Amino acid sequence: MDIILFGPPGAGKGTQGALLAERHGMRRLSTGDLLRDALNAGTPLGREARRYMDAGELVPDDVILGMVRDTMEDEAHGVIFDGFPRTTEQARGLGGLLADLGRTLSGVAVLSVPDEALVRRLSGRLWCSQCGAVYNVHSNPPAAPGVCDVCGGELVQRPDDREETVRRRLEVYRAQTEPVLDYYEGDGTVVHRIDGDRPVERVLADLESVLHA
Ligand code: ADP
Ligand code: AMP
Repeated sequence: MDIILFGPPGAGKGTQGALLAERHGMRRLSTGDLLRDALNAGTPLGREARRYMDAGELVPDDVILGMVRDTMEDEAHGVIFDGFPRTTEQARGLGGLLADLGRTLSGVAVLSVPDEALVRRLSGRLWCSQCGAVYNVHSNPPAAPGVCDVCGGELVQRPDDREETVRRRLEVYRAQTEPVLDYYEGDGTVVHRIDGDRPVERVLADLESVLHA
């Protein structure tokens, strides 16, 4: 079973995706994480992606689709797509890729959160530079300041979580990413809308009922 976890930056896709993957033996595929890995490894792809990411813009569709295709080839688990697709072109590409691999998309779960809450969440997000675990200074602080509970790595703010970049990322979401929902509604894919502005466990419970539906 493959599903898309959809929503604006800061909606909780990574947080929920990690919990769902762990509890249901699925794989969370975050294109943002793949890009940050490439960036940290200093690959040509990472270097190309960096200027888009730092500006809050989308990385070109062909780069993203090539990267997803490479990681999906031998995938034996159900996949939770996190932060992908972000354009209608990517949604079409994903459809073709899943068809080629004999997989089917079970649905899209959209997490809705008001913009003021998104800005607050992202300004307080901390990210482990070693293992990618996500914290929040307001709602989910680490046990020791600046240190990852999971691996002891250093916690940092993502450069694209600065307020001016966050505003641009929200604009890009409304203009380029939200229309992907019309695409799925138009082709008959089930789209579940979930109130993401609630405690993590409540959102998770709704997502789990979507998985069982
Ligand atoms: P996304 O992957 O959609 O960008 P994240 O999962 O990284 O979002 O969450 C963004 C920030 O908000 C993180 O700091 C995370 O700890 C926090 N967060 C996630 N879910 C909730 C929630 N339900 N309530 C409050 N804060 C949350
Ligand atoms: P995320 O970790 O999902 O918040 O993504 C961080 C940044 O990576 C985005 O602001 C984009 O610059 C880039 N990115 C991640 N996923 C995609 C995607 N599917 N398409 C285009 N750009 C992406």
